[in-house]
Amino acid sequence: MSTSTTPQAARAAPPEPAYLIGVHQGWHAVTQFALKYTAAMSSGTRIAYAECGALVRVSKHGPYRRGGFPVMHDPCIECAWAVAGETGQLDEEIRRLMPSNEDREVFTRLGVDPLTAVTAATMLAEAARSGHGDYGADHPATIQMLAMITRHAPVILVPEDCAEGSCEHYPPGYDPLTGKGFECPRPEASAACAACSLQAGSWAGEWEGRYELGIPAPCAVLTRLAEHAEEALAEAKRRAEAATQWEREQARPEPEA
Ligand SMILES: [Zn+2]
Ligand SMILES: [Zn+2]
Ligand SMILES: [Zn+2]
Repeated sequence: MSTSTTPQAARAAPPEPAYLIGVHQGWHAVTQFALKYTAAMSSGTRIAYAECGALVRVSKHGPYRRGGFPVMHDPCIECAWAVAGETGQLDEEIRRLMPSNEDREVFTRLGVDPLTAVTAATMLAEAARSGHGDYGADHPATIQMLAMITRHAPVILVPEDCAEGSCEHYPPGYDPLTGKGFECPRPEASAACAACSLQAGSWAGEWEGRYELGIPAPCAVLTRLAEHAEEALAEAKRRAEAATQWEREQARPEPEA
């Protein structure tokens, strides 16, 4: 017969999720700690501070899961990186910056390094996790910079008719009269920064969000972030080496006078 010392009540209570889903122009993460400071409206709606600092409504969707519904559809990037930094999952978030194989081909054809954002985030994360960087992996300064890398990561813009499959970029030998659907090889694609490019406002009606002016990728912001990430990692490595050297000297016995 087996016995357990766990009280019945403690066994029955499921563990509290670390983060709940908040909503305000996208999906955010709200910690259990922040929940202690919620303001409840007369309607019963709870308002709390999300990890990014925004005031959000605590949603009915429950625990925050980065790849789950509904967060996956419109995640707050700052919250996503903050959760990744606090839960030791920076690598998962970095993987999300990786372009698809098809997009990588187009970037390469256009002479744009498809991995600038991935490399910059990897270096920054390595510096942060080394213990010798300016800031740790869950520090707001690290999160802010990683979120900026995500925002300014290169994207591929294609003309509307190509995106909708109504263009005439037929592959060789394709007969539009008899052929079925085809995949446009995107010959007129360009690489742009989604954050820096001008997107149409609500004046454009159903075309709101359409790119009006593309700013070529990599933009100056991403280029500077990438330089900074490289410097930050080099500095962290220098400090780690100096610390090792110092420890070695401390361990050495004092020479006899
Ligand atoms: Zn947020
Ligand atoms: Zn940009
Ligand atoms: Zn096309």
